[in-house]
Amino acid sequence: MSRPEPDPTERLEPLLRDLGSSRTGLTSREAARRLVHYGPNELRRRGGRHWPRALGRQFTHPLALLLWAAAALAFVAGIVPIAVAVMVVIILNAVFAFAQEVQAEKAVEALAAFLPVQAKVLRDGRPQAVPAAELVPGDVLMIEEGDRISADARLISGGIEVDLSTLTGESMPVFRSADLADTGVSLLQARDLAFSGTMCTEGQARAVVFATGMRTELGRIAALSERVQPEENPLDRQIRKVSRLIALIALITGAAFVPIATFGAHLPVSEAVVFAVGLLVGNVPEGLLPVITLALALGVRDLARRGAVVKRLSAVETLGSTGVICTDKTGTLTENRMRVTHVWTAAGTYELGDAPVSGDARRADPALAGLASVMTACNNARRDLAGTLTGDPTEVAMLGAADRLGEPGAAGRLCLFHFDPALKRMSTVDERDGGTWVDTKGAPETVLPQCAAIMEGGAARPLTAERRRDVEQVVDDHARQGLRVLALAVRRLDPGQPVPRRREDAERDLTLLGLVAMQDPPRPEVAEAVAHCHAAGIRIIVVTGDHALTAAAVARQVGIVGERPAVVTGEQLDRMSEHDLDALLREHRQLIFARSSPEAKLRIADALRAEGHVVAMTGDGVNDAPALRRADIGVAMGRSGTDVAREASTVVLTDDDFATVVAAIRSGRQVYDNIRKFICYIFAHTTPEIVPFLVFALAGGAIPLPLTVLQLLAFDVGTETLPALALGREPAEPGLMRRPPRERSESVIRPAMLVRAWLFLGVICAVLSMAGFFYVLLRAGWHPGDPTGPGSPLHHAYRQATTMTFLGLIAGQVGTAFAARTEHASLRSVGVTSNPLLLWGIAFELALAAVLIYAPPFQALLGTAALTPDMLAFVVPFPFLVWGADEIRRWLLRRRKAAP
Ligand code: ADP
Ligand code: MG
Repeated sequence: MSRPEPDPTERLEPLLRDLGSSRTGLTSREAARRLVHYGPNELRRRGGRHWPRALGRQFTHPLALLLWAAAALAFVAGIVPIAVAVMVVIILNAVFAFAQEVQAEKAVEALAAFLPVQAKVLRDGRPQAVPAAELVPGDVLMIEEGDRISADARLISGGIEVDLSTLTGESMPVFRSADLADTGVSLLQARDLAFSGTMCTEGQARAVVFATGMRTELGRIAALSERVQPEENPLDRQIRKVSRLIALIALITGAAFVPIATFGAHLPVSEAVVFAVGLLVGNVPEGLLPVITLALALGVRDLARRGAVVKRLSAVETLGSTGVICTDKTGTLTENRMRVTHVWTAAGTYELGDAPVSGDARRADPALAGLASVMTACNNARRDLAGTLTGDPTEVAMLGAADRLGEPGAAGRLCLFHFDPALKRMSTVDERDGGTWVDTKGAPETVLPQCAAIMEGGAARPLTAERRRDVEQVVDDHARQGLRVLALAVRRLDPGQPVPRRREDAERDLTLLGLVAMQDPPRPEVAEAVAHCHAAGIRIIVVTGDHALTAAAVARQVGIVGERPAVVTGEQLDRMSEHDLDALLREHRQLIFARSSPEAKLRIADALRAEGHVVAMTGDGVNDAPALRRADIGVAMGRSGTDVAREASTVVLTDDDFATVVAAIRSGRQVYDNIRKFICYIFAHTTPEIVPFLVFALAGGAIPLPLTVLQLLAFDVGTETLPALALGREPAEPGLMRRPPRERSESVIRPAMLVRAWLFLGVICAVLSMAGFFYVLLRAGWHPGDPTGPGSPLHHAYRQATTMTFLGLIAGQVGTAFAARTEHASLRSVGVTSNPLLLWGIAFELALAAVLIYAPPFQALLGTAALTPDMLAFVVPFPFLVWGADEIRRWLLRRRKAAP
């Protein structure tokens, strides 16, 4: 877009002088000096100082408060050791949770390194891309459509539409121009200023930086406001709800225990309270949330390494439930390395190899030279000093082809109508070859209607309906092979005719020069990724601006569609009612939207979401931003995309590759599975922890307490968390990408999982540990009702028996950990030793158990006693029994599933 620009020199000169700069920017050396003086252009986080509060939060969240209440209760009941023990539990939990949160935060912060923000500036008089952190006051920024503005700057030329929503919350873009000087308005309203953190949605401008880092408006806001609370994600909410429910259950069982114990077992109330406290502490899953956060954060870190930068932790979980991917074609399915292979003029088709077109052909067909001129003039790609071409791949391909077609003379651009993804064409007005020309290139469907003539044999002939059809035939023939076809056309302005300032005035009465067909090979890894998607029940819909036949051919090459896909063009879509669109999406599994406008993406995303699908949508342009925001997972192209698209999306691909989207979905599924695994593992303890107390209470004093409260606490905090963390790092279960996507409404904790944890694994563990307890007691000659208190002959045997319960719990837990590693598959198919972290966790658990059982100070504290070899031998099969039982359960499950 170009606007007449009255020179605002007088106003700008003092400003530039103040900033010690000029219209051509700074020298690199001066910029380096200023960087030392002003510091990097970064927002300083008020980190470091907020950690006491984060740690404090660990002591004050609802579950911790419950534990405090338990400690207070124990204290009031006069049992100080228990009160102290509970407080130790609280502190251990808090420190542990805090450490995990810090680690999770670090993993997320490290993502910034994967998405370096660049800024285009003039340095040493040349345009250069520099890291945004190195901007200094005085730098001249070159701002373009789609750019994020990285410092506060005053426009010195051009005009842009700016999205100020990060600063003002107002999402309507506002126009900012060098020509609009305002005085006496607030800074944010000044119409010649652009601010750090805002987005350029249209136009082009140059601007001189006057503030960086914390001195920008954004920095001021950041300094004023506290760090924004991270929004609570759906997963968090689910877990919080469930853990409250569990806490409630714990509270009720604990409270119910008091009357049972006092009236049933005739215990003193104070002792009943102690057990209630123990139950409460044992059942509150306070470690769950941080473990989940950490699992998500580590998932995010792994994904970033693989090329998908996920900006919200909870997005990992959403990724796992993706049911539909709406993908671009160019650059995502294909390599985005275009190469012109054919050129067509009225005289015929030329295959374009590496060698230039022969001089004879060039002389015989003057249209070829014309094509070369348009290819060069109507082009924003640039050749840098080293000779490499940079810019839009379509245009880079054109520049490369122009060299082989002819030797186009120099052209001076008078005016630019930029590529409009809705119109699908671009035009320039140029001074070249001794005249003034309108040069247009774009999709044949949009260029041909603007043409009145066709260049044939050196002269313009009328473009009759018949000729038009012939041209369309050529377009289709090439498109069918998967080639992208562009039409090139010109109009020579009469001398003295004014340069058209409006698009409609420029792009009319054109003369078609010919067609250019280019190839963009599919990425080799895409076909496999597509196959994975299909196996995993994930639908792929191609949404592209390209020709229907080109799109269909490419989609077929990578296996997205078969021979007869449904192809809907942008025009057809525009005429379609919402109802028709819904029906279309429901009826056709193989769908391609071709020649679509960016708005189409928004409609498609909305329609799919209304049908209950979880939608991932790729995009790169400014106009894609609304659709990227609306989709469940917006996926932006990190390489070819704009900053605006990147900002609007939840996932940024650093390699622009479709296969990476699929890898991310796979990771999402895996992380979600693993979260379920350790939830199942943690919940499985509840039953064996409660049963000893129930046995004691229901026996009415005939059976001594099988597990002391301190033993329970030691078990709960000492031995549970490491294996849980390790389960978060489980390798993927086979069949992960062979099952349909999870329903949007499905909760992370399903009834079937609770049944497995509480009633299956839990009950087995409880039975086994009770068996250990009675084995020792009975062998020592105990009969129900015999005294086992201090001083009685059976006291040592009783201590050994409680130790057996304790060790039985741990042994059962080891078995549970192995069982929880898979939900459906056999452990053999995953590999028994394929999670070394878990093996370490278990080794640590066993070592700790040995210390608690054999070290005299702990024996005194917990009431444990050394076990004899035959007792140990009794416990050894426990893990295998738990694990084996679950292995059989899963086998039955698989068999039932296989039988139709
Ligand atoms: P895609 O979905 O393949 O990325 P685009 O929106 O980039 O589609 O392009 C749509 C159509 O616009 C292309 O098929 C081509 O005909 C035309 N086109 C693309 N890039 C340019 C350009 N730089 N100049 C003119 N026309 C273009
Ligand atoms: Mg494109």
